[in-house]
Parts: sequence; structure tokens; C-alpha cells
Amino acid sequence: MQDNENRPYQQCTRCIMDTTDPEISFDEKGQCNHCTEYFKLAPLYIYDGEKGDQARDALIAKIKEAGKNSDYDCMVGVSGGVDSTYVAYMAKKFGLRILAFHFDNGWNSELAVKNVENIVKKLDIDYQTWVVDWEEFRDLQISFLKASVANAEIPSDHAFLAATYHLCAKYNIKYFLSGSNFATEGILPKSWGYNAKDVKHLKGIHKLFGKIKFKTYPLLGFNREFYYTYVKKIKMVRLLNYIPYVKEDAMKVIQDELGWVYYGGKHYESVFTRFFQAYYLPHKFGYDKRLAHLSTLICSGQITREQALEEMKKDTYPAELLAEDKEYVIKKLGMNAEEFETILNAAPKSYQEYPNDEKRLKFIYKVYNKLRGR
Ligand SMILES: [Zn+2]
Repeated sequence: MQDNENRPYQQCTRCIMDTTDPEISFDEKGQCNHCTEYFKLAPLYIYDGEKGDQARDALIAKIKEAGKNSDYDCMVGVSGGVDSTYVAYMAKKFGLRILAFHFDNGWNSELAVKNVENIVKKLDIDYQTWVVDWEEFRDLQISFLKASVANAEIPSDHAFLAATYHLCAKYNIKYFLSGSNFATEGILPKSWGYNAKDVKHLKGIHKLFGKIKFKTYPLLGFNREFYYTYVKKIKMVRLLNYIPYVKEDAMKVIQDELGWVYYGGKHYESVFTRFFQAYYLPHKFGYDKRLAHLSTLICSGQITREQALEEMKKDTYPAELLAEDKEYVIKKLGMNAEEFETILNAAPKSYQEYPNDEKRLKFIYKVYNKLRGR
């Protein structure tokens, strides 16, 4: 990692990424590696008219064919957020038989729960919830906070993926349609969030800081993932990469057609995520995920750079809401204010300072993607 403190502030002239990403680099025009990479990859991942329609039709046919001996063609993880709601909406439109899956880690806002219930009712689709064991999950979340690493969402992201594969296997579903997509999420600095799949990292941090043993927390090691993808042939598909995806338009559609209600920010359907992204990350690490999100929207032509800069000036986390959330988070985690302040003030650490399988995983995925012809 570079020493950020000695680096003068610089912001990209094309997107709005800046030196708060310690690994950012700029070319002679002042354009950064993130938007440059985005435009390099866009032809591979962004919907492009007729060719895109053909690819989408072929994909839907493949999903239907794979599902013909099952009760469902696909699974959609619904968080209640825009992306996953729109995936469920479009999948239904394409005539897919959907099993909706909601991951409950105990942090969902009331509005999120209401949105999810509403969506499955309006779309008339079956629905499964996976509730994590709160005591185990809490212990793991506190472990990540105590470790002072930037990606404190690993306990959620890892369990969500593991539970998804588990349920797909259980219901003999071959396709999992994810809400992640290139048009609105293509940019994310590596140092802001380490790979949630790395089970060695997860277990390592838990071993150092955790107090109770895992009994039911869903783990996904590489062998397990290999079993699901090769033996069970479960595939994760980013449906939104196959259709024109403009966030504002999608939001309007789900509001009008499904009665979906807006939360006021990306991923704000979870109280922890809201607090984590709007306060913990910027305050403790200097990372503001809005920069990456808005930069992606600039690159995919959904907003202008000026609009993004205006957006950054807005206070999306009013002081009263922050105070309320902070109190709620501390109480729910079973900590006291002092313990929590110690965590907030502890020096940030890199994931590299803890056990991890980064090198091995990089190598394995390289071979694995080659085998799959990617
Ligand atoms: Zn840029």
C-alpha cells in the first residue's frame, strides 16, 4: 500500500475517483485507472442493443431448459434494494419461475422487510428466508470491527453467498440471478473491500477476536464452491448486464409497478450497511463508497460529472439519523459506547495483516476461469 499521507490530493478529470483510494493512478490527462478500466471492460459487460438482446434471449432459453425438471428456473436474492428488486421484476417478465431468497442477518430496516414482502406478493413468487444465528453472526461482526479492516461486510456477504449456493442445491436450481451489475457497480477500488469469499481470512479474524464457535453460520470454502459449480452446476448470472439498466428508470418502474419505496441511499435497506457506508468507512478509513458508485454512473452515461459533484455535496446522513443509528448499532451488537469508540479510533488495518488466501485464490480462479473458457 502507498503512503497516502504524503500524497497530494488529486481527483480524476473524467470520473470523480480521487486519492482517497491509496492505489489510484492517473495518466497524463488526469484520468484515473478506474474509469480507464471501466471503458476497457464495458464492451464485454454492458448491454449493446441487438447483440445484447440475442445474448439475453439465449440466456433465458438456457435458464428455462436447465429448470425444466425443477420447480423453479432460477433463484433471485431479494434484499429489497433497487438492483435485486429489478432483477426479480425482469425475471418474472421473461417468464422465469422464480424462488425469491431473502437473507436476514438481523439488520434489515422495517422498510426493507416491507418492500420485500410487497415485491414477492405483487410478483406472486415463492419466497424463502435464511435467518442467520444472531449470536454467531454478532460475534463475527464484532470480530471484523475489532480487526479494523475496511471490509466489515464480509460476515454478511460471505454468508449470503454460502446460503445462496446451499439453497440452489437444495431446490435443484441451476441459476442464481444476482443484482450486481457493471452499469452501476463497475468501479470499486480493491483496497476498499477485500474478497468476501476468502474463508481463511474470515476464520482467521474470527479465531483472533471471536468468542463463540460457529455452529450454523454458512461457510463457503473453495472446495464447497467447486462442488456447487462443477458437480451441482449452479451458475451465478448478472442479469442486469444483459438488459439496458438505468438506475433512475428502474427505480420508477418498481415504484409504479411493485409499490416499492425508496430508502434514500444505495444499500440503505440495512441499518448496519447504512451506518457502515455513510459513517464508519468515511470516518475511520476516509473511504466514501459514493465516489465509486457515482463514478460508475458517470462512465455508464447515467449522470454527468457535474451532477455527481453536486450529489457529493449533499448530506445524505443527517446528524439525527447518524446518532440514532449509532446508538442502535452499539446496542444491537451488545457493546457499550466506550468499547465502540475504541474500535472507531483504532488504527485502520489492511486485510493483508491477517491470515488470507489471496495468492492461492488468485491462482485457483485463474486456472478455474481458463477451464470455463473465460
Ligand atoms: Zn476516473
